[in-house]
Amino acid sequence: MDEAIVLGAGIGGLLAAAALAGNGARVRLVEKDPLPAPTDRPGPRKGVPQGPQVHAIMKRGEVAVEALLPGFREALVAVGGTPVAAGIGMKVYEGGGWHPQRDCGLVIHTQTRALLEQVIRGCLARFPEVEILDGRRFAELGVSADGFVEGVALRDGEKLSAPVVVDAMGRGSPLPAWLAANGWGEVPRERAGIDIHYVTILLHQPEAWRGRGNAWVVRATPPHNTRGATMMPIEGDRWLLTIVSRFGDHPPLDWPAILEFLQTIEGEAIHDLVRDCEVDTPARRFMVPEAILSRFDAMAGLPVGLLPLGDVIGNFNPVAAQGMTVAALHAEALGETLAAESDLAALARSYIARAVEISETAWQTSVYSDFAYPQTTGERPADLARRQHFRRAFRELLESDGELQRLAVHVQQLMLPSSVLARPDVIARAEAMARG
Ligand SMILES: Cc1cc2nc3c(=O)[nH]c(=O)nc-3n(C[C@H](O)[C@H](O)[C@H](O)COP(=O)(O)OP(=O)(O)OC[C@H]3O[C@@H](n4cnc5c(N)ncnc54)[C@H](O)[C@@H]3O)c2cc1C
Repeated sequence: MDEAIVLGAGIGGLLAAAALAGNGARVRLVEKDPLPAPTDRPGPRKGVPQGPQVHAIMKRGEVAVEALLPGFREALVAVGGTPVAAGIGMKVYEGGGWHPQRDCGLVIHTQTRALLEQVIRGCLARFPEVEILDGRRFAELGVSADGFVEGVALRDGEKLSAPVVVDAMGRGSPLPAWLAANGWGEVPRERAGIDIHYVTILLHQPEAWRGRGNAWVVRATPPHNTRGATMMPIEGDRWLLTIVSRFGDHPPLDWPAILEFLQTIEGEAIHDLVRDCEVDTPARRFMVPEAILSRFDAMAGLPVGLLPLGDVIGNFNPVAAQGMTVAALHAEALGETLAAESDLAALARSYIARAVEISETAWQTSVYSDFAYPQTTGERPADLARRQHFRRAFRELLESDGELQRLAVHVQQLMLPSSVLARPDVIARAEAMARG
């Protein structure tokens, strides 16, 4: 395929452009926001309102980005992406206690979302085949009478032609509504009402903590406790502190009230670390009422050549921190499908099936935790009680089994499938533990 259009220059759109250009296509990447110049200080932008909140990319996502854009990791570290060793540098509170401190053999990198995007854009600039049309807005899809994508019309009236259009316009993409309004039907959706509220504030790290790769994650223990927090080191010797709650318990925005909130979460360590910190950037709020999985694979028909990617297919509970990694895995799948398949209809079918499967795996992981709260709305999985039982017992096994903890961290960072934990010996030990 010679030409493609990518709609949306968020994480998914940038990586889709890399995958297409890597397969020889000329790509026009359309983004409604004006994008900052490479030398500008990275900061939030309107088109990604979730951007000021914590945005950690999983190890598997980092690996996928590095494969699509070689040199990415080095470029990120050069501008302040901070290495954090899972298991030692990253302290995790879950199920009533802190995970044991052990080296789990993985180093992730933490930074603001704005910096991550800027580094990815910088790496993408090395592809002369990619032209970014920023400050331009998608309006309409062009489809031939026999159902093939012909291109797009922009809000300013310009028409761009290409046989492939990637929809990477995020959770608010106008394309599903366009499809419904133009006779293609509604995209079937699975939904879970999670009603989750985020507040994020940037702090200057105390002198003693600068240059150290330490991060903290406090996961609320369901069903009674809804409050959690994360704190990540980011560029500029700062900490990005996020507090989270659910179901009408809205986290506060002002600093003294945030400190009070931190005293009510389990573990309490973060409060003691930050109470004397100087605030760098005031707190920002974001709310996610629902997690949604859009089953493009179950539609009766789609314009051939329209390829949904990233949050357009699935947006999950952000606490699971999977969204950007899923978008990177979609882009990786797109690149591999392009390399293997030249027939457009077969390519589209194969890519969409793979992309939905990737999102569905992420969806399953996060909804099992969400449904531990009785207030979460949606269809509860039939094996929920058994899984939750197992999970609690499994958490206890980690205390004494370092190899299991190493595997669990690799699964959590999506480097290994969860099936590696379903070994008969592990299940037997967890069941024995659950029986007490
Ligand atoms: C509170 C919160 C915290 C999160 N934390 C994490 C985390 O820690 N780790 C993680 O991996 N994920 C996290 N996520 C998820 C992450 O934000 C998304 O999964 C990820 O951004 C998806 O990328 P995307 O490219 O699909 O969409 P987006 O990044 O949302 O990009 C969509 C792009 O499309 C553009 N656009 C929209 N409409 C148009 C139009 N009409 N024309 C042209 N352009 C358009 C937008 O301007 C934007 O640039 C979090 C989400 C939330 C809500």
